[in-house]
Amino acid sequence: MPARPAIVWFRRDLRLHDHPALAAALAAHEVVVPLFVLDPRLIGGRFSSANRTWFLLESVRALGDGLHRLGTELVVRVGDPRVVVPELAASIGSQDVFISRDHAPYGRARDVGVAERLAAGGARFHPLRGVLVHEPEDVATGEGRPYSVYAPFRRAWETRPRRTVLPPPTRLVPHAVPAGSIPTLASLGLGDGPTAGPGLLPTPGEPAARARLARWLDDGIAGYAANRDRPDLGAGTSRLSADLHLGLLSPLEVVERSVGPGEGRRVFVNELVWREFYAHVLFHRPDVRRRAFQPAFQAIAWSTDPVAFDAWRDGRTGYPIVDAAMRQLAGSGWMHNRARMIVASFLTKDLLQDWRAGEAHFMCHLVDGDVASNNGGWQWAASTGTDPQPYFRIFNPVTQGRRFDPDGTYVRRWLPELARVPVKRIHAPWEMAADEQTASGCVIGRDYPGPIVDHATARLRALAAYETARRTS
Ligand code: FAD
Repeated sequence: MPARPAIVWFRRDLRLHDHPALAAALAAHEVVVPLFVLDPRLIGGRFSSANRTWFLLESVRALGDGLHRLGTELVVRVGDPRVVVPELAASIGSQDVFISRDHAPYGRARDVGVAERLAAGGARFHPLRGVLVHEPEDVATGEGRPYSVYAPFRRAWETRPRRTVLPPPTRLVPHAVPAGSIPTLASLGLGDGPTAGPGLLPTPGEPAARARLARWLDDGIAGYAANRDRPDLGAGTSRLSADLHLGLLSPLEVVERSVGPGEGRRVFVNELVWREFYAHVLFHRPDVRRRAFQPAFQAIAWSTDPVAFDAWRDGRTGYPIVDAAMRQLAGSGWMHNRARMIVASFLTKDLLQDWRAGEAHFMCHLVDGDVASNNGGWQWAASTGTDPQPYFRIFNPVTQGRRFDPDGTYVRRWLPELARVPVKRIHAPWEMAADEQTASGCVIGRDYPGPIVDHATARLRALAAYETARRTS
């Protein structure tokens, strides 16, 4: 074994289980230096998020604890990885840096820069699997092209052989590199703590994520097909999105432990494949970060009414299912998938506002904010994406509320001002007569706003705008 240490640079793989890069480094080197680099460009900027950064920093801390128990220390540095990683490698005489390959545009460009600088110093960069189950090159059409529609992608994805899930290391040899310390949120200019309410963000770190996965497999997954569209149920979905985003869980391990008999397991694995699909789409088409996937809808004449946008952002549209969802996002750093679809449809269709504005707002609050899934979800809802919701099928927020939150439990949880509104009015409280409003303590215009748009009128405006864009493209 080479005497020189290897570096394992942790990024979106903050775990010890099923970590091919760590396993490969350990197979070839006696001493491995585990490294985490906090990149200020990923933390600041217009997508900066106290929720996500808190979850990240605490997950890094948990990784450090796990490594410490195995006999070594996590090295933490702050700075541009293009500088930090090659400098560290040179200073400790390391010629091998192992990573789990990142597929998003910023990560790819960063890694090219790191690899070039390492090569200039005579060191090698080893990108391995671990962030996705299948790499973008693994899933292609017969002609070798990427898929742009989900169903055939999923069929191809399912036929590809999967590697074996790897065990965690049992012991690590210590190194002599100064560990450094994990910055605080405040030192990064992100305030004293997450913006989500106390106890509402998931417990960070791999051990907590593994416990969540175990609970989900025991208690949740069997009912997933029936419950997943119900934001009122609370535990109808896995809540593993932030764990998967940061790689506290290996997506391969989650898939392997989820496949099995039953509709719940089948539908759950399908959702994990959506995550892979959007990652592959962004890998092959990085331009969709800024542009519509469907050229026909690149030139929609979006409205830029700031009052309407602020009402959406703050949960004051007068449509309870939309407002509850936006308050869930602000209050807990997460939003149920059905609710994400409803609010994204409302912003892009009822308010005719650019999906990119909604996408950016989500990134600032979501603890699971993920550039590929978020972009995919927004473009789906705006009917501009790969497999979009057809532009003429526009969610009615009242019908959606009645169908997926039948008793109004979700609405009442996030909009206490509607707590005493009767079930039959909960998704359209403006339909209450004046005495009903008084009796329920919810006077429209005083305690809760009336609808900021009439859905039927807004729907026609959206259809006209989409049709014009299509005709003129
Ligand atoms: P579950 O229903 O338990 O699903 C299990 C896992 O499958 C999720 O954790 C996630 O990794 C994956 N998954 C499920 N649905 C999707 C989907 N539609 N697209 C991609 N992956 C999926 N997901 C993110 O992880 N980050 C985002 O930033 C994000 N932004 C979204 C924006 C919009 C407008 C929409 C409509 C969806 C977005 N999603 C995003 C997808 C989905 O809403 C979340 O993954 C899901 O709500 C997370 O909750 P969960 O872990 O309980 O999901």
